Amino acid sequence: MKGLMMDYPLTLTQFFERSRRLFAKKTLATRIPSQPLFRYTYAEFAERVRRLAGGLRALDIRPGDRVGTFMWNCHQHLEAYWAIPMMGAVLHTVNFRLAPPDIAYIVTHGGDTILIVGASVWPLLEPMRRELTTVREIVIVRDTADARLPVGGLEYEDLLRRGAPVAEWPQLDERDAAAMCYTSGTTGHPKGVVYSHRALYLHSLGMAQADSFALSERDVILHIVPMFHANAWCVPFAGVMVGATQIFGGPSPQPRDIVEMTEQERVTVVGAVPTVWIGVKEICEREGHDISSIRLIPCGGSAAPRSLIELFDEKFGVPMLHAWGMTETTPVGTLSRLKSYMEPWPDDQKYTVRAKQGFPSVCVDLRIVDEQGRVAPWDGKTMGEIQVRGPWVTSGYYKADSTDHFTEDGWFKTGDVGTIDPEGYIQITDRTKDVIKSGGEWISSVDLENLIMAHPKVLEAAVVAVPHPKWIERPLACVVPKPEHHGSLTAGEIIEFLRPQVARFWLPDDVVLIEAVPKTSVGKFDKKVLRERFKGWPPKAG
Ligand code: ADP
Repeated sequence: MKGLMMDYPLTLTQFFERSRRLFAKKTLATRIPSQPLFRYTYAEFAERVRRLAGGLRALDIRPGDRVGTFMWNCHQHLEAYWAIPMMGAVLHTVNFRLAPPDIAYIVTHGGDTILIVGASVWPLLEPMRRELTTVREIVIVRDTADARLPVGGLEYEDLLRRGAPVAEWPQLDERDAAAMCYTSGTTGHPKGVVYSHRALYLHSLGMAQADSFALSERDVILHIVPMFHANAWCVPFAGVMVGATQIFGGPSPQPRDIVEMTEQERVTVVGAVPTVWIGVKEICEREGHDISSIRLIPCGGSAAPRSLIELFDEKFGVPMLHAWGMTETTPVGTLSRLKSYMEPWPDDQKYTVRAKQGFPSVCVDLRIVDEQGRVAPWDGKTMGEIQVRGPWVTSGYYKADSTDHFTEDGWFKTGDVGTIDPEGYIQITDRTKDVIKSGGEWISSVDLENLIMAHPKVLEAAVVAVPHPKWIERPLACVVPKPEHHGSLTAGEIIEFLRPQVARFWLPDDVVLIEAVPKTSVGKFDKKVLRERFKGWPPKAG
């Protein structure tokens, strides 16, 4: 027997039309450097979304066509986030921080025909314009006060005046592509993930869940996670769905901008990778700012050190929510919320739980599979690869036949290694390619990094494997001292600090003090660069 409910498609259009009416008076804003915030209402936003879709239609964008964006976070980017999918086309957010050959590959492989580009990042694209053979039109957004337009470029505001605003959105299939995004491509070419309306719809609902980000109309969201990366954690979709006030970080937001906007606008939710929070913490500690309006800092993308979670709690009274996910999972996979019966636990135990990556979100099935292909028990000890499946997990990569990333029984192989404890909380110990295997035993670089970063003189630390004649691989710790401890922190201090906390074979063979940990385009530790730099460690005498 079949259910008798309507087969109503789960598309973004439903959210948009509802919000346009219910939240017409709410505010959206963008930071424009050295100017007051630009502000407008949801009603104006909705009208401009209809105009953008009309303009793109006038440029002959048809259902299924890819329209790329190459921009910082701004309200125009939000307009693209909604207009493009709702007209049946595909929003392709392109990461402008990648190496030029990767950008050219992504745009052409994605088959983008129009690119909407922020004037401040146009100089990154201009030298490769000729290689972008699929692109027939560049639309430029003025994102700074003194933005200069390239000769012959179409200005975004002119595009909005072209054609008739879309009055009726087309009926879409919920399985139609709405958006796409390429993973940063740590090996081989970047890989394209294609999101359906259904996936974005369900994921947005997920973000409003109390045990997730609990987004609501009352929130003031500050968008710092780049909108070119993993849908900015889907918050631009969920934010409009709930009708929250939203502020976009504008070109190149620095920790100081985050602090100032938070104070002025009484921001309640602001997510970012841990590196950003290390910067914010420094400013707040040095200058004393009031960031207490924040009710939640979603933090992920790389492991949030426990010491950082503790510090934000204890110094600023602001809770961090550690989350794990990937471009391939839209992106949220797990969230580290305490369960109610854990609240009375001692702080130490609670921080241990909160520093884990958390338990699976609704709609996400998760398992850990060991090297022999066996599903690992929930014992918090057995390490293996994390595999996931669900309605917002990718089932393949765009125009790629390889099935390497999927199991025969339909799970996505994340390439992350971790454990799952009896309460269902996962802990990521490594990415498969970052794992340190010493004499056949796994050593978690992430655990070592967290321990080292808890040292009072340490700013950042990355632990990588270096080749070893006997043990095959051994850990090497690359440590950045806090500025005031440059010259005074020693390798021995770090080793002595670790000694009582880890098994003997986990102790790094050496500690090198470095100026900065190299970062990827999205602010994660780039261990590839460190492994390359230190592969001959220790340096041979003479
Ligand atoms: P890339 O880093 O290649 O740009 P993604 O942004 O999709 O790709 O990153 C996904 C990866 O980031 C995950 O597979 C995992 O290795 C890492 N990651 C994300 N969140 C966390 C977290 N909370 N702790 C540790 N690692 C994380």
